[in-house]
Amino acid sequence: MKYIIATHNAHKLQEISRILEPLGIEAVTDRQLGMELPEVEETGTTFAENAYIKAEAACRFSGLPAIADDSGLVVDALGGRPGVYSARYGGEGLDDNDRNNLLLQELRDVPAGQRQARFVSAVCCVFPNGDTLATEGTVEGEIGYAAAGKNGFGYDPLFYVGERTTAEMSAAEKDAISHRGRALEAFSVKLQEYLKK
Ligand code: IMP
Repeated sequence: MKYIIATHNAHKLQEISRILEPLGIEAVTDRQLGMELPEVEETGTTFAENAYIKAEAACRFSGLPAIADDSGLVVDALGGRPGVYSARYGGEGLDDNDRNNLLLQELRDVPAGQRQARFVSAVCCVFPNGDTLATEGTVEGEIGYAAAGKNGFGYDPLFYVGERTTAEMSAAEKDAISHRGRALEAFSVKLQEYLKK
C-alpha cells in the first residue's frame, strides 16, 4: 500500500520509510509520484497542528493516505525556542551549521546542568475518508558546547543523549531512541489497529 510522505527532507524520508517498511507500507514522495505538493504554510503553534496541516493538504492533493511529521528542538533555557520554528531559526538563508552556531552563541552563558533540551516529533496521518491518526514522541538531551559527529542532520551534532550526540550514533541507534523513532513506533501500533478494523 502506498502512502505519500509530505516531506522534501531526505533524512526524514529515510527515517520514516525504514520504520514503516515492516508494515508493508511503501513510503513515496510527491516527486516519485510525478506530482509536486503545493507548499503549505505551517501556521500552527504546536508540532501536532503543523503535522496535521501538512498531512491533510497532502492527502487532499494526492488522494492517498498522507503522513507528515513536524518536529523541532525545544531548549529550556530559551523558553522553548526554537520549537516549531526550528527549521527557520535565525531566518532564511542559514544552513544547519549556521543554526548550530547561532544556538551555541545564544547558550554561551548557560552553564552545564541548565542546557536541557528535547527533540519533539508529531506524526499525523490523514486518510482520504477524513480519518486521522496522530502520535507524538520526545527524546530528552542536553546541548553541548561544540558540534560532534557527522551522522544525522539539523541539530544532531549539538544534542547529547548521555555521552554522545545523536550525530555520533548510527541510524539504527538513533531510531531506537529518537523522538521521530518513538512517534513512528506509536504510530505504527495505532496504524496496525486501524487497519485491522
Ligand atoms: P520541520 O519538522 O520540517 O518543520 O523542521 C524540523 C527542524 O527541526 C529540522 O529542520 C531540524 O532543524 C530540526 N530537527 C528535527 N528533527 C531533528 C533530528 O532528528 N535531528 C536534528 N534536528 C532535527
